[in-house]
This record gives sequence, C-alpha cells and structure tokens, in this order.
Amino acid sequence: MREVRAGRLSEADVCDADFLLRAAATHHGVASARECPLCGAKLRNTKWVYGEVLGRRVGSARSEKEIAEFVAEGLEFTVHTVEVCLACRWNHLLTSEVAYGKC
Ligand SMILES: [Zn+2]
Repeated sequence: MREVRAGRLSEADVCDADFLLRAAATHHGVASARECPLCGAKLRNTKWVYGEVLGRRVGSARSEKEIAEFVAEGLEFTVHTVEVCLACRWNHLLTSEVAYGKC
C-alpha cells in the first residue's frame, strides 16, 4: 500500500469494492485472520467463480460447499479468492486457481 501513503492514489481509488462485492463478502465470505492494510478491520475472503462451463453462474460469489458441488459435477473453472474490507471497502485479489472436476 505504498502508493496510498505516498499520495499517488486517493483512498477512493483503492476502496472501490462495489455493492455486489460487499454484499457477497457479507453473505458468502468467511472471516480472514488478516487485517485491512488501510483501516485495520478484519477482512473477509470471498470466492468468485469464472469459466465458460459455468454458464449463468460465471462471476458469482460461491460458498466452499457450492464450489465443491461444481467440482463434483466434473466442471473445470477458475476460482478467485478476494479479500474485502467491509469497513473501508478495500479489496484485493488474493489467489486465482483452477478447480478441476474428477473425470
Ligand atoms: Zn479497511
């Protein structure tokens, strides 16, 4: 977060979690042990799924259980884990990984 402290980016640019992202973090997110680098509040991790095989489910937040069900269906898709701060809206793509279904 050096850019914020140096003043090159305003906090509004960084804290851009939109309503959907915050709602997803509230309903599907799991508490993270990490703290927000901006305000120190506890972060929530939310998993988002991407992949053509998911059809209408692309780009939606999913629980671990739902992701396990997609894998069980034999689908191959990408899971983005996003950290979200509900207090100041800071968010960050933590990991991007491919999930494979068993064939
Ligand atoms: Zn924060």
